[in-house]
Amino acid sequence: MDFLRPENLLQFGYKDCLLCDVERKGEEKRCRRCSGKVGQRDRLLWEINRERIRRIAGKLSLIYPGLGHFYGGRILPGIFWASLIPLSLGLVLNVWQGPTLGHAFLLLAFGLIWFLARRDAARGYAERLAPCQAACPSGVDVPDYIALLREGRALESLALVHDRLPFAAFCGRACPHPCEQKCVRGEYGAPISIMSLKRRAADLGYAAGVIPSSELGDGVPGPKVAIIGAGPAGLSAANTLARLGSRVTVFDAQEEPGGMIRYSVADFRFPREALIADVRTVLARGVHFQGGKTFGRDLTFESLAADGFEAVLLAVGAGEAIRLPGAGGEDEGFYDALAFLARAKGGRPIHPRGRVVVIGGGNVAIDVARVAVRLGADDLTIACLESLETMPAFSWEVEEATAEGAKFLPGTAVKKFLVRDGRVAGFEALRVERIEFDAKGRIVPHTVSGSEFEVRADTVIMAIGSRAPLEFLPPQASRGTVDRALHVCRLLFGEKRSKIPAYMCGDCVRGPGTVVEASASGRRAALNIYGDLCVEEVRKARFADNYRRRTEPQENDRPEWRVRRNPPRLPPEQSRRTFEEVEKGFTADCAQHEADRCARCNLWL
Ligand SMILES: Cc1cc2nc3c(=O)[nH]c(=O)nc-3n(C[C@H](O)[C@H](O)[C@H](O)COP(=O)(O)OP(=O)(O)OC[C@H]3O[C@@H](n4cnc5c(N)ncnc54)[C@H](O)[C@@H]3O)c2cc1C
Ligand code: SF4
Repeated sequence: MDFLRPENLLQFGYKDCLLCDVERKGEEKRCRRCSGKVGQRDRLLWEINRERIRRIAGKLSLIYPGLGHFYGGRILPGIFWASLIPLSLGLVLNVWQGPTLGHAFLLLAFGLIWFLARRDAARGYAERLAPCQAACPSGVDVPDYIALLREGRALESLALVHDRLPFAAFCGRACPHPCEQKCVRGEYGAPISIMSLKRRAADLGYAAGVIPSSELGDGVPGPKVAIIGAGPAGLSAANTLARLGSRVTVFDAQEEPGGMIRYSVADFRFPREALIADVRTVLARGVHFQGGKTFGRDLTFESLAADGFEAVLLAVGAGEAIRLPGAGGEDEGFYDALAFLARAKGGRPIHPRGRVVVIGGGNVAIDVARVAVRLGADDLTIACLESLETMPAFSWEVEEATAEGAKFLPGTAVKKFLVRDGRVAGFEALRVERIEFDAKGRIVPHTVSGSEFEVRADTVIMAIGSRAPLEFLPPQASRGTVDRALHVCRLLFGEKRSKIPAYMCGDCVRGPGTVVEASASGRRAALNIYGDLCVEEVRKARFADNYRRRTEPQENDRPEWRVRRNPPRLPPEQSRRTFEEVEKGFTADCAQHEADRCARCNLWL
């Protein structure tokens, strides 16, 4: 049955490189210098090496334009940039009649050439991506996984999603799906239901019971890496490191892996079975999990180094709730959103009494409100600083909460909590005129003086954000940026060096974000760690990735393609009473229709 594993399935096609294999018979074209024997591990190694080459190429181009291009193997662009300086110099010297304003311009042009050449060298070979793929923080190959699904190759479709993102079940259900906002079909009717198609691939693929294996190197044990935090960032890093052949152990303070998506995201959006499928896929790659281990108490940098770990990655999330000043304890009727959600998920729900007010305007506030409604709150209000149009929660989430009975009190700032007889009675509020953000991105509300009014409440749940629990870091620790866009950094310990290289990624660097971002961050951190630990092996990785695909005949539009199919949902009057999943999966017919609408932009852009 080994051949049924997603990676191996692809080897039973005409070659084992996942990227090429998703091209269909008749349209395949090998990468230049591809031996036909490139596995997923080789591609990951090459991805690391490519980054390294790009970094060095950028630096070399500072010495002389074009040098970096030569180093990166891009000979023609190298000749172009290298020749620009002597050409323009020759031009100047030919017409030289003493310094003029024109020469000042020329100097400026020199500087511009240097700058553009460096930027181009550091960017490397420009791969053309479909807009949906370019918009995905994890860079999931959307057009190809849709094409595979269209052909009924769900397992390969899932394997292709897993290549960049191990949380196919989650992101098929609850991703903010920036890909759909950029889908070109949006200009011809409506965007493709990309997220629901990902769920279809996950549902069919996981139902087949096929789980991947790790790709160990040629018998040489890879580096031993410890990951702290089994949320999406930590698990994604573990997944990538295991695919590279590392021996990975993930430690978490909680007993079970999953992080926020296990302990906070409500069952009616992401059921337990789907979580288990995603997590099992990561652990099946040979990743060890140890629950109930808190870094800073049970583990330290020193103890991990003593246990033989060669690097440590902190992916501890942003799970420490921020509270409003003056808020009391749970016995007075004040709750934190994360604790409230965790209790509901853990089967020890808090049944909110009387009039419930949720404070906050983000997606967590919406989740809290929808859970509270299901737990019996029949008078529920969400109060936030922002207006309805500008609140950070996704518009579709706001609509769902409204349909299930939540009311909104936008443009409201808490001035002072009111407590009577040891219980919260509400708060004094001020109208918010406008909001601004300070240099650190923190929200600064401007309130209308004299606009005080009272909001009555018997239960207050605060969902105003959270921060990373990093009190275990030594005071001298600072952060060196590894990847700014994907929120990966390396910890620097000053003179008193740690015995073990340490990195950070995910929400604990970015602040509260999304699963697709946390996963991308974990993947990038893993590639960096492996690159730092196995320099020589990475240097040897070579794989010309400037493959091109043949185009296929394109049909721009068909009348039936203007109609988008959406998955069925429970009606709000039913959904507000149950924790059953609200949105269902696509039927085969709908999935086919949506997959047919995809224009496979990657073939013709
Ligand atoms: C209510 C809610 C709803 C959400 N809904 C969505 C959604 O619909 N779509 C979406 O994309 N995203 C959603 N998110 C965001 C998403 O869950 C997070 O962005 C993501 O989980 C962050 O991943 P992470 O691995 O960085 O951190 P986390 O998931 O927070 O994982 C961190 C892990 O580290 C562990 N840990 C912390 N400190 C220590 C320590 N000292 N020692 C050992 N272990 C430690 C924690 O126990 C935890 O398991 C939601 C978040 C919340 C709270
Ligand atoms: S039509 Fe298909 S390939 Fe093009 S942007 Fe939309 S999902 Fe992506």
